[in-house]
Amino acid sequence: MEWEKSKRLYEEACKWIPGGVNSPVRSARAVGMNPIFVKEARGCRLVDEDGNTYIDYVGSWGPLIVGHSHPDIVEAVRRAAEKGTSYGIPTQLEISMAQKVVEMVPSIDMVRMVSSGTEATMSAIRLARGYTGRKKIIKFNGCYHGHGDCLLVQSGSGLATLGIPGSPGIPEEIVMHTLSLPYNDLGQVEEVMERMGKEVAAIIVEPVAANMGVVLPRPGFLQGLRKLCDAFGTVLIFDEVISGFRLAAGGAQEVFGVLPDLTCLGKIIGGGLPVGAYGGKREIMMKMAPVGDIYQAGTLSGNPLAMSAGLATLNILSSAGIYEVLEEKANYLVHGLAEGAKAAGVSVRMNRIGSLGCGFFTAEEVCDFESALKADTQAYAVFFQEMLKGGIYMAPSQFEAFFVSLAHEKSDLDRTVEVAAQAFERVRE
Ligand code: PLP
Repeated sequence: MEWEKSKRLYEEACKWIPGGVNSPVRSARAVGMNPIFVKEARGCRLVDEDGNTYIDYVGSWGPLIVGHSHPDIVEAVRRAAEKGTSYGIPTQLEISMAQKVVEMVPSIDMVRMVSSGTEATMSAIRLARGYTGRKKIIKFNGCYHGHGDCLLVQSGSGLATLGIPGSPGIPEEIVMHTLSLPYNDLGQVEEVMERMGKEVAAIIVEPVAANMGVVLPRPGFLQGLRKLCDAFGTVLIFDEVISGFRLAAGGAQEVFGVLPDLTCLGKIIGGGLPVGAYGGKREIMMKMAPVGDIYQAGTLSGNPLAMSAGLATLNILSSAGIYEVLEEKANYLVHGLAEGAKAAGVSVRMNRIGSLGCGFFTAEEVCDFESALKADTQAYAVFFQEMLKGGIYMAPSQFEAFFVSLAHEKSDLDRTVEVAAQAFERVRE
């Protein structure tokens, strides 16, 4: 496989764009490579500028649950664009989107659209602080909630990938109100809440962590957070930017039966266009301007192209049996990958829920950031490179998820397992 054109484009990009990429984790630095440059994509397949084809398990980092260039999405965007790309004036589409979200996500009574997941979490934190009149927030190590200042503490995603603990440019005074605790350790949260619960505005959590690789909540963890928030009048925020519409129509909150006060959404809700949303209890959402006095706004919020792409995606996901299909595909894939690793004698812990998964190159159980960081990133780099050469595109980082879409056919999954079996052999060498 040749990457001559990608290499030239990367060199050119580096002259004009810091690191040649518009989001750090796209750089394949952590796996010892340059990024490939994509020309086009359809279904589960990517084509790069050199003409190489890959079966894609990144899906634009989660949004493309129905696959690339799905005809319904393309048509919805085309139709919307013909009528205008943005108005900054309310549209009926925004009502349809809000109704759809309320219908699908159990805890949401009202929703506000924004343009990214980062905006959703920033706004939800501001709302929680404004609503409670408190300053402190609790988050969890290895969870990533976008790049808003107060949440960029012990974050996963690109920071974990590149080994960056926090970020210069964020004043101490801003993060001094953020407490970051170990994921899945309810005891520590209880202890902190006993001491200062009345000062804590919000606990924000990825109900399934998917930015330190994939880490499932231990039984009782989410329920315990709910109880603590109830006891101390703290707002429970589920960041479902990844898990929303991915694990079930109602996201992780449906799967685990725990209802947060506020939910942050992104990725799938935009069908591949730039969108985020936050929503929740009516009583809390009504504090937002213009009815309330907590401010948040956006020139492109509720953009008609994004609403159309998102609605078309959510409509597909509302068909009966869709999540069972995704479950079956992902289970089949993970089973095959685990067998390949075992046959090669390589220790890999497969963490998966629905169509969201990750293989950690470690023999130990991965239940939090500390155990995730014990994974062998060099082994992952070899695995990534071998998969890429075999025409399989995985995330260029041990600490990111893989996403199975409706567009992955059994033959794609079989091919993936076949290439992976060889890749695991190379890892062992
Ligand atoms: N929250 C979670 C759980 C995410 O995974 C991400 C992005 O990966 C974000 C928030 C931020 O979303 P965005 O990149 O759209 O700003």
